[in-house]
Amino acid sequence: MDSGHIPFNKPFIIGKELYYVAQSVLSGHTAGDGPYSRRCKEFLQERFSVAQVLLTTSCTSALEMAALLCDIAPGDEVVLPSYTFVSTANAFLLRGARPRFVDIRPDTLNLDETRLEEALSDRTVAIVAVHYAGIGCEMDVIMPLARQRGITVIEDAAQGVNARYRGAYLGTIGDMGAYSFHETKNFICGEGGAFVTDDPGLIQRAEIVREKGTNRPQFFRGEVDKYTWVDIGSSYLPSDLLAAFLYAQLEHMDEITAKRQAIYDSYYQGLEPLAAQGLLTLPTIPAHCEPNYHMFYVLVADLETRSRLLAYLKRRDIHAVFHYVPLHTSPVGQKMGYEAGMLPVTEALSERLIRLPFFYELTESDVTRVVDTIHAFFANGGGSD
Ligand SMILES: *Cc1c(COP(=O)(O)O)cnc(C)c1O
Repeated sequence: MDSGHIPFNKPFIIGKELYYVAQSVLSGHTAGDGPYSRRCKEFLQERFSVAQVLLTTSCTSALEMAALLCDIAPGDEVVLPSYTFVSTANAFLLRGARPRFVDIRPDTLNLDETRLEEALSDRTVAIVAVHYAGIGCEMDVIMPLARQRGITVIEDAAQGVNARYRGAYLGTIGDMGAYSFHETKNFICGEGGAFVTDDPGLIQRAEIVREKGTNRPQFFRGEVDKYTWVDIGSSYLPSDLLAAFLYAQLEHMDEITAKRQAIYDSYYQGLEPLAAQGLLTLPTIPAHCEPNYHMFYVLVADLETRSRLLAYLKRRDIHAVFHYVPLHTSPVGQKMGYEAGMLPVTEALSERLIRLPFFYELTESDVTRVVDTIHAFFANGGGSD
């Protein structure tokens, strides 16, 4: 039975979000690094066992901080997947680096660690590991390779908050990590993010870069008697109003993750018969990866099937979407000399992927309706109606 529109994403509240926002206004500290920012920071540092978590206005900002901290010189290269969001590349382009795109693994759609070495040169300053769908990249291969050559590893864990790789939380394994709290991610505050590091050499400089290049954080702690301009930087700290909203979400992290797991499992079980018939491919979670159930995607046979399935779902009021247009075939990528054919796995899989509706308030009957509709599509031989 069809009933109503199923959106792709829907922001939600789960606890005291609105109460905390009101408290923040009443407290008189709505600028950055107020009481709720401190609570979020301490919560995340403790939970993820990491020395420094700094809230930012977005994951994009956290990636820009990471790029600033890499001290990039013109001609330096940064290695990253092409199958990612534009911010992963832009952060480094803004500093004058040249991106070197690497192909992805066909199972997790993460950077293919076996192709990494051939992409490194003596100009490589950083590798950006993007944990797609909250599934960890093969950090056990990436880290030693980078360490041998003195290359910095940055984790774009925008989608990987509260997910683990061999027991370690994503974002805390490399030299620096970046999280997103955008409304499309697992834990939200509209727009938001965090910069993460365990590196003693970066902990203090990260604070400075985030506070317009000043040592204001040290001043507030009483470590210096006046604050001044000490480095380059920008303004990357979010209002405490947003931190107040976020803190209420973090208080329910386990509940949110459990609900998302239930949605993931329902989709998986419901679509398994179609996978068994070879009509689509379901996502892979390696045994050593503990996901946060960020998304549910399926791979269909080809671009044409994808277009027809998206349209079929849309006609039945279900909003599913495709994901990244590879960066190397985008207009900017082409201007840098990349062209179609260079990254075959990225190009083939990005055309076949569909993300299904996935958000905290998605109901069991919504999932059933999406699953049944996909079954009907294939039963109709690819749904031309
Ligand atoms: C969402 C996302 C970003 C950007 O996050 P914002 O908080 O919106 O800046 C960056 N990288 C990846 C992989 C993402 O999924």
